[in-house]
Amino acid sequence: MPPDKVPFQDIPLQIRNIKPEIDAAVQAVLAHGEFILGPEVATFEREWAEYCRVAHAVGVGSGTDALHLILRALGIGPGDEVITVANTFIATAEAISYAGAKPVLADCRIEDFLLDPAAAAAAITPRTRAIIPVHLYGQPADMDALGALAQNSGLALIEDAAQAHGASLADGRVCGSLGVAAAFSYYPIKNLGAFGDGGAVTTRDEPLARQIRLLRNWGSVVKYHHEVQGFNSRLDTLQAAILSVKLRHLAAWNDARRAAAGWYRSALGGCPGVVLPAEAPWTGRHAYHLFVVRVLERDRDVVARAMAARGVQTVVHYPVPIHLQKAYAELGLRKGAFPSAEAASRSILSLPMFPEITQAQVGHVADSLRAVLAG
Ligand SMILES: *Cc1c(COP(=O)(O)O)cnc(C)c1O
Repeated sequence: MPPDKVPFQDIPLQIRNIKPEIDAAVQAVLAHGEFILGPEVATFEREWAEYCRVAHAVGVGSGTDALHLILRALGIGPGDEVITVANTFIATAEAISYAGAKPVLADCRIEDFLLDPAAAAAAITPRTRAIIPVHLYGQPADMDALGALAQNSGLALIEDAAQAHGASLADGRVCGSLGVAAAFSYYPIKNLGAFGDGGAVTTRDEPLARQIRLLRNWGSVVKYHHEVQGFNSRLDTLQAAILSVKLRHLAAWNDARRAAAGWYRSALGGCPGVVLPAEAPWTGRHAYHLFVVRVLERDRDVVARAMAARGVQTVVHYPVPIHLQKAYAELGLRKGAFPSAEAASRSILSLPMFPEITQAQVGHVADSLRAVLAG
């Protein structure tokens, strides 16, 4: 890829770099043919639990299902409320709806786009059962403040860690180990991505892990004996085999993302009209799933189109907060309900970010942004 063409992601390049390892893992699965809950699933679950420093990981069909099954396993359903942040991917809210509970939204802080603990506290009612902070863009939410809030109010703290594989707090604790349970997604472009859908729940809680194992497999551990009514949501054996290979590279890939973030910071420092993403004081390792700047004083969509004309692909994560989505008109919330989430949605721009991005490519993105804003 010439440095003057910068894609937002480069999955084919990443696969080419590890192709022999992937081929061997896939061939091993084809040789035994146990495509559902084959031995590679248990192996990957052990590896992922160890990576997240918890006792249990349970592979499921997607990150959305991971959130849904956690809520079900905790007995959260109709009549219950679950608090999450307004500026997340819709799946966080939809998982709450799947469980039959009501998503109650709270605003983020504009500096780091993360759930504001004061806003979460204000959203608590007698029906609230849980809080789901999102480690958005790969940065841990304010888990000490949210943990204290959850504990004082008797609520379950569930992490949406779909963007935070390998992220950690300044004291070393890792995302996936910071609440009662965490949901990970292995959607292909996540920091650890499968070749299709996949997800996992991590938890220290043995009974909760067991319940999720039941729920993902029609309520069954022993074949044709069903203890509860469940779902069909397993992590595929092939995906687990691929994830075990990719997990060996995750630490290096996350380091490469952090290096790219550093290049962006030096190349864009002091650029008028651009706000660089803040690292929160509690953040140890930011996983830089995304590198999201804010474009002030100019129309963000016009800037994005001008970047595209210069060969730089950008994306907006996300252009419409949950409360302004047609799908959530039922919440009855209007424009103005969450000022920070709304201000973010108008000004954010995700710049190309992937482990293989070169310093020259980052330089071209930064030069293009500076040129577009000066023009
Ligand atoms: C990707 C993502 C999900 C959903 O994961 P899937 O595996 O696509 O179902 C949930 N929450 C957030 C914040 C995500 O980024």
